Amino acid sequence: MKITVIGTGYVGLVAGACLADVGNDVVCLDVDARKIERLRAGEVPIHEPGLEPLVARNAAAGRLSFTTDVAEAVRFGALQLIAVGTPPDEDGSADLEHVVAAAQGVGRHMDGYRVVVNKSTVPVGTADRVRRAIAAELAARGAALPFAVVANPEFLKEGAAVEDFMRPDRVIIGTDDEEAARVMRALYAPFQRNHERLILMDVRSAELTKYAANAMLATRISFMNELANLAERVGADIELVRRGIGADPRIGYHFLYPGVGYGGSCFPKDVKALARTARDVGVPLDVLAAVERANDAQKRVVSRKIVKRFGQDLAGRRFALWGLAFKPGTDDMREAPSRVLVEDLLARGAAVCAYDPAAMPEARRIFGDRIAYAAAPLAALDGADALAIVTEWKEFRGPDFAELRARLRTPVVFDGRNLYEPADLARAGIEYYPVGRLQARAEAPTGAGR
Ligand code: NAD
Repeated sequence: MKITVIGTGYVGLVAGACLADVGNDVVCLDVDARKIERLRAGEVPIHEPGLEPLVARNAAAGRLSFTTDVAEAVRFGALQLIAVGTPPDEDGSADLEHVVAAAQGVGRHMDGYRVVVNKSTVPVGTADRVRRAIAAELAARGAALPFAVVANPEFLKEGAAVEDFMRPDRVIIGTDDEEAARVMRALYAPFQRNHERLILMDVRSAELTKYAANAMLATRISFMNELANLAERVGADIELVRRGIGADPRIGYHFLYPGVGYGGSCFPKDVKALARTARDVGVPLDVLAAVERANDAQKRVVSRKIVKRFGQDLAGRRFALWGLAFKPGTDDMREAPSRVLVEDLLARGAAVCAYDPAAMPEARRIFGDRIAYAAAPLAALDGADALAIVTEWKEFRGPDFAELRARLRTPVVFDGRNLYEPADLARAGIEYYPVGRLQARAEAPTGAGR
């Protein structure tokens, strides 16, 4: 198939490369000329496992190319995948400016039947808006060309995007057009290994499904974060509670990890946008307001613990920070909890030395020389009053605690991801502040009658 991908970001580039890899001819379009230049030069602008070789292989085979030329791109693909950004507007609703611009480009330059596929996360009713935008452009140039608009929200996760696209749990297709449904089935046939993963539905249900999925996951995270704070107060261990409830198959273990709050380019904006849609139509989703409030508060959980331990005034203090990306496997720092922590520490006069395996260039772009950067995790510790962990990268999971203790000025660790067993840290002589865990478990088994 000939496919055009409009918007070559996390979703567009991954989708484009994966679709090329199963034999399609793909043109990726973007308005960002610098990004297209880099891609043409063989540089992949985002950190995503497995993406670089995939792009290189398919570009070399001539199945994947990059352009800023809208007319050329729209004429190329029978399928036009819209994967542009949908950032939050000031009122929390999704800003559809880029989606509408992409649709107008299609209407302006299409020269035959097109299936226009919305992969961007968009509110209910957006397919109608896309349809109207294309129709208006066609009318303006007096062209009567057929087209269909399909809602096909993307569920890939940053950090595992290629894997997710190649082996999706499910593919949601929203359309009431039979020919478009046939084309979509053919598009996804190579990605359905042993059983049908396509779920066909009407357009509006498909649009709502994407928001519902992200809002549900965000709700689980906020619930566990609030529960962790409660556990800490009442002397329970959230890790044991997590296992206790996760064992219930109706609940399951996924997304039950307490921490420093959710971030990234999707959950925060999608929760806001769904709440906004619900308010607009007079059916407010009260639960989402609480989810957001809890998340905003949780992003400060580590700074609160730091202040409790070191006092309000942190002038002259230095903190090592492990992890900047909003989650492991990506260099994405959009809405990352690390940003809130860094700003809190700097505002209180502290110095910060950070390390992240992937997000250092992004952090330099955001913080410049307001913080220091270490070349390795242990190097960040030298002369620091404490270590704060914000992202659960694998390489932070098993440090040499003796060395960690030796390097820190005071042996204190604030762990926003509950990476370690409190008993191990206690044994190593390190003061340990995880989220919602019992502090003194090291002593517990030895004391008779406890
Ligand atoms: P991104 O910001 O990484 O990429 C968007 C790209 O679109 C940018 O390169 C931008 O220059 C380009 N663009 C903007 N307007 C354009 C236009 N008119 N024509 C061509 N290109 C244009 O965004 P992303 O993270 O890939 O997200 C894209 C959409 O997919 C969003 O709606 C997002 O919510 C959704 N989504 C993202 C993820 C994720 O993990 N990032 C997962 C699922 C769904």
